Amino acid sequence: MYIKKQRLLTPGPTPLYPPALHAMMASDIHHRTEDFRKAYRSCLADLKEVMGTANDVLMFASSGTGAMDASVSNLFSKGDKVIVCVAGKFGERWAEIAKAYGLDAHVLTVPYGQVVSPAQVEAALALAPDTKGVFVQASETSTGAAHDVRAMAAAVSKTGAIFVVDAITGLGTMPLDIDGWGLDVVIGGSQKAFMIPPGLAFLSVSPKAWKFAETATLPHFYFNLKKEKKSGDAGESSWTPSTALILALAEALRYVKQIGMAHLIENAQMLAAATRAAAGKLGLELFSAGSPGSSVTAVRAPAGMDSGVIVKEFKTRFGSVIANGQGSMKGQIFRIAHLGYFDFADLFAMVAGLEIILNANGYPVKYGTGVAAVQEIYEHAAVKPQTVNA
Ligand SMILES: *Cc1c(COP(=O)(O)O)cnc(C)c1O
Repeated sequence: MYIKKQRLLTPGPTPLYPPALHAMMASDIHHRTEDFRKAYRSCLADLKEVMGTANDVLMFASSGTGAMDASVSNLFSKGDKVIVCVAGKFGERWAEIAKAYGLDAHVLTVPYGQVVSPAQVEAALALAPDTKGVFVQASETSTGAAHDVRAMAAAVSKTGAIFVVDAITGLGTMPLDIDGWGLDVVIGGSQKAFMIPPGLAFLSVSPKAWKFAETATLPHFYFNLKKEKKSGDAGESSWTPSTALILALAEALRYVKQIGMAHLIENAQMLAAATRAAAGKLGLELFSAGSPGSSVTAVRAPAGMDSGVIVKEFKTRFGSVIANGQGSMKGQIFRIAHLGYFDFADLFAMVAGLEIILNANGYPVKYGTGVAAVQEIYEHAAVKPQTVNA
């Protein structure tokens, strides 16, 4: 019987930033007081700052899907033509939401592990110039692939449509120039790169998107963008907010600002590159080899091995939780997260553990093969003076 620390190595929820966790204990605060308004205002301002946008940023007490739902119900009308990019389980969620609200959705589907190309979006827009919206995932967490949001935005911004980006695992893992590229709605969630527990969703809303809110007729009540904007301007939320999470967010955003959003992104990108290198050295195949993102790396289990075995053994041997594939990808792949509060020491341990598990399950590897690949990348890239400790 040895000590096994619990480690969350999943792409949401992600490891918690300890000072944010401690801040939650001060949540016996009333939300209609100046103390709370101060914290809420600073969260909204800091979110704008780290997202790098002049657009309004609003917050909801919900998981990320709440903001996805809100962006449809507040900005569109029944029967509106939209284009939905589907490259995985989260793209499928966009399609389901569009269907639930009666939008006329043209779904661009690619096989899991691939991405929808900007050319596909451009062609679909050319065929239907009256399209009102285009929906995509910046980072498709279920496959580890990242979309070329910038090139897609260039196509969408020339039209009357708004571009709605689920960046729930894109924020903090890839550059997203919201204002420069013309990303009309950009959605984030607390349990991803923001290093705090699930329960808060955010979204930025461009002036073009606000115009849509003026004419949209789909029914909505709890998730009301216009009402939330008015409340936010007064330092409040429309309904009782998740005070504990907002205090945590204020602390986490302070940290993100201290490191700098660009370095948070670079951190994820380096860990992702090191993971890909380790997988390569171990003879493992990447699932999204063509357009791998940096929020999570999806790796195929060796031939004949169920990825569930790897997931299970991480838990039983090392107390660590890693993600299996979702839906039909279950048993095929395992996913290693890089977004938010992850560092090289996490990755050394993770890859060392993976080598042990592979060896024990009929896939012999020489110990240290994958770890060395991570060490090399660390040596070349990570030792930078800007690195900030918690
Ligand atoms: C986590 C995630 C979501 C949101 O899921 P919730 O369970 O509602 O938080 C949406 N899109 C992507 C790409 C995600 O990774």
